[in-house]
Amino acid sequence: MTYRSSWMTGELDIFRETFRRYLSTNLSPRAGRWRADKMIDRNAWLALGEMGALCPDVPEEYGGLGGTFAHVAAVIEDLEYELPEMALPVAVHNAIVAQYVMHFGSHEQKQRWLPGLVTGQLIGAIAMTEPAGGSDLRALRTRASRKGNAYVLNGSKTFITNGQVADLIIVAAKTDPDQDTKGISLLMLESKGSGGFRRGRNLDKIGMHASDTSELFFDNAFVPAENLLGSEEGRGFYQMMEILPKERLAIAVSAVASIERMIQLTTDYAKDRKAFGKPILEFQNTAFVLAERKSEALIARVFLDWCVERAIKGELDQVSASIAKYWTTDKQCETADECLQLHGGYGYMNEFEIGRRYLDARIQRIYGGTNEIMKLLIARSL
Ligand SMILES: Cc1cc2nc3c(=O)[nH]c(=O)nc-3n(C[C@H](O)[C@H](O)[C@H](O)COP(=O)(O)OP(=O)(O)OC[C@H]3O[C@@H](n4cnc5c(N)ncnc54)[C@H](O)[C@@H]3O)c2cc1C
Repeated sequence: MTYRSSWMTGELDIFRETFRRYLSTNLSPRAGRWRADKMIDRNAWLALGEMGALCPDVPEEYGGLGGTFAHVAAVIEDLEYELPEMALPVAVHNAIVAQYVMHFGSHEQKQRWLPGLVTGQLIGAIAMTEPAGGSDLRALRTRASRKGNAYVLNGSKTFITNGQVADLIIVAAKTDPDQDTKGISLLMLESKGSGGFRRGRNLDKIGMHASDTSELFFDNAFVPAENLLGSEEGRGFYQMMEILPKERLAIAVSAVASIERMIQLTTDYAKDRKAFGKPILEFQNTAFVLAERKSEALIARVFLDWCVERAIKGELDQVSASIAKYWTTDKQCETADECLQLHGGYGYMNEFEIGRRYLDARIQRIYGGTNEIMKLLIARSL
């Protein structure tokens, strides 16, 4: 049985074949170094830019390939299969930061930032979460006060992916503290030349070791008024609600790719590893666990593809994206646990990919809106 995603095209087949080969021969050998450094080197970003893998849906007039969300999904999948260390950092860059600029930026803003995001000269980050809370975005405290031709930012953010390296950071801040959601705006902070902006620690996580995660501090940080995303203050909450479904779908794309990879890894291992004189795949328990996981993976894949098609058409809704994010990431964690178990003691070793995937999977249920928040959003549609 072979299944092909409905959104795949011949052109994407060619791109993906070259891209995967490049990843496995040129970049994957560097992943161990990145995990030790807790950081991906900048040259890797530039290399992805050259491959056309950064922001592939940016229109040609802004330096992109003029692709669709299919290209964005394909890049995340290929990274998740071949180089999972870069899947999250690039998903933040491609499926979040570039999307905000493309959807809400003025023509001047697009001209200023999109070409750099496409080449990798600019690395993007988004800073919503604060030390006091991430789920309740309305309660954010970072304040942006207008002073003449600039905003002065005060406050702090935490858990920010790409925070150590980002050149362009979307900061969610209150421009009007007397308003609720209508008081939130998104400011594009350019790290070079923004006095008062400081990166904090590269946080020590239990997994996702190559992806840097930071605290960010704003102490009278200066952001020119023209860096307000869109032309009006107070649109930030609405803008986040518009893009969050794509962010959640991107998480689901990586979840399903990781599930597929873990099943493949474990099937290969179970054919090879012997116990009591036969391959462990011949034990009914092993075969049934993998049969169950394979069934779920295909069910997840079909629903995911339906969501990707809707995203390509611009029709992805909040509830479908929440279902995709919650269900696939729950399944990813269950699959990681079962597949690790089938590897026995080797599964617990950092040098085995399955062990790393087990640790990396856990955050997927938390960021992008926790799975509890996903269920709240789904429940509202009942
Ligand atoms: C590796 C990593 C990368 C990240 N990258 C980014 C990034 O790039 N940018 C960014 O802005 N943030 C990022 N985050 C932050 C992430 O999005 C938040 O951690 C997440 O949204 C949860 O917020 P919180 O940690 O404050 O938990 P809290 O909001 O304090 O939630 C704690 C618990 O309470 C539950 N809960 C909260 N409210 C409700 C409710 N109403 N009903 C039921 N349960 C509820 C939650 O589900 C959770 O289980 C990242 C986090 C990590 C760990």
